[in-house]
Amino acid sequence: MDYSLPIAGVGFGPRRKGNHIQYVIVHHSATPIKGRDYPALWWASAFHRYTQRRYNAPCPYHLIIAPDGSVARGRYEKTPGRHASGFNRKSLGICLVGNFDIETPTKEQIASLQVLILDIMAGFGIVADSILGHFEANIITFGEPRKTCPGKNLNMSKLRQDIVTTQIMQREGMV
Ligand SMILES: [Zn+2]
Repeated sequence: MDYSLPIAGVGFGPRRKGNHIQYVIVHHSATPIKGRDYPALWWASAFHRYTQRRYNAPCPYHLIIAPDGSVARGRYEKTPGRHASGFNRKSLGICLVGNFDIETPTKEQIASLQVLILDIMAGFGIVADSILGHFEANIITFGEPRKTCPGKNLNMSKLRQDIVTTQIMQREGMV
């Protein structure tokens, strides 16, 4: 796996027959603010090294978004992730670097997140209701959130709403 592959814009291509991706699960890294200036590729490599050492497994997320808005790939989309119980075989996992229980995602991070999600939705034919925060996936799997991920300051309802608004604007040729 070439986890070092940096990506500027993601093109997942047309939906493939029998495609397994039905959801996007959003996470935060819950890592301290210190080190925020590193680009996504640095974080992808750091997560990869950590999980290799600890679990002998690659970076658990498919995509990583750094505070500067840069994006890196952690796993190829065909490889199941390891980030949300009950959803690993049917979702892509996106991790935003930061601890959004105590800070807010940067404008650049949210902008990149929206671009990625819109691209994935178009590529895999999924709807905004299937964009879930980790805690929302846990409610479906366990009947309780179990954690706050992607953090109290990343409002998933607003994210879904903004994505739908952008879709409408794109359809109407307004953006
Ligand atoms: Zn999570």
